Amino acid sequence: MKEQTPPIETNGFRGYRDTDTDLTAEVRADRAETELRKLQAGLAHVSRVTILGELTASLAHEVNQPLAGIVSSADACLHWLAAQPPNVDKARRAIGRITRDAKRASDVVARVRNLAKKAPLQWTWVDINETVEETISLATRELSQNNVSLETQLAENMPQILADRIQLQQVILNLIINACEALTAADDEFRKLSISSAREMDGVALTVRDTGIGIDPQQIETVFEAFHTTKPGGMGMGLAVSRSIIEGHGGRLWAEPNEPRGAIFKFTIPSKKGNG
Ligand code: ADP
Repeated sequence: MKEQTPPIETNGFRGYRDTDTDLTAEVRADRAETELRKLQAGLAHVSRVTILGELTASLAHEVNQPLAGIVSSADACLHWLAAQPPNVDKARRAIGRITRDAKRASDVVARVRNLAKKAPLQWTWVDINETVEETISLATRELSQNNVSLETQLAENMPQILADRIQLQQVILNLIINACEALTAADDEFRKLSISSAREMDGVALTVRDTGIGIDPQQIETVFEAFHTTKPGGMGMGLAVSRSIIEGHGGRLWAEPNEPRGAIFKFTIPSKKGNG
């Protein structure tokens, strides 16, 4: 059955006669834009959940590691308390480690929940370096399992940017996972990923550089098209969604070839959102 578009409420008003103002068209355009925004947000969410699915092993590890730490510190604590005389100082230190590890595990869970939930955009002042570090912590296992050596160069005194933190994490995570896949596909022992931030004239820039299989120069723009993928089982949505997120922040995202091989993905974001 064909879906019916609900009629636009105009109370019969069809625009002013003999003027160029056509309010019904404006209302329609407004509604179309709202619908488009909703669709984009929904797509961004689906694509985010897909990335999380790819990271399941990493995330389980990030939570299990501190949990194992908690168990062994608790054992140690019991041991020091049972000693004659009890070694309260060492027991206290073991409890300190338990608190630290529990916080680590709960931080990872909170980050995953934030990425997975479908929340409205939240524009806040964001420190891009902090966002990069939080995102890397979700992918460390992915990198180590694939023998990728990661180098970060985060510039000091970066201006804060007005952004949705979760969407930025999504873009960075996407670039990291893509780089990781390009590196493993290169079938080379030397797998290097570098992430660097820099201050720009009116904002920040982030560069993700890998030494992977690289991109055919003819395809350097095509990779941003929706459904373009060269991976078996790939969706081809990651870069399209990432670009729309960065543009929604008033910035730009593009790709360049790396030297001597691999790819560079770079985005810039003005410190004050460019489009409103
Ligand atoms: P997917 O990862 O599902 O294929 P993306 O939109 O994230 O979707 O990427 C589209 C395509 O761009 C990939 O299939 C790949 O061919 C290419 N690509 C993305 N990142 C890189 C990279 N770092 N190195 C080489 N090719 C890349």
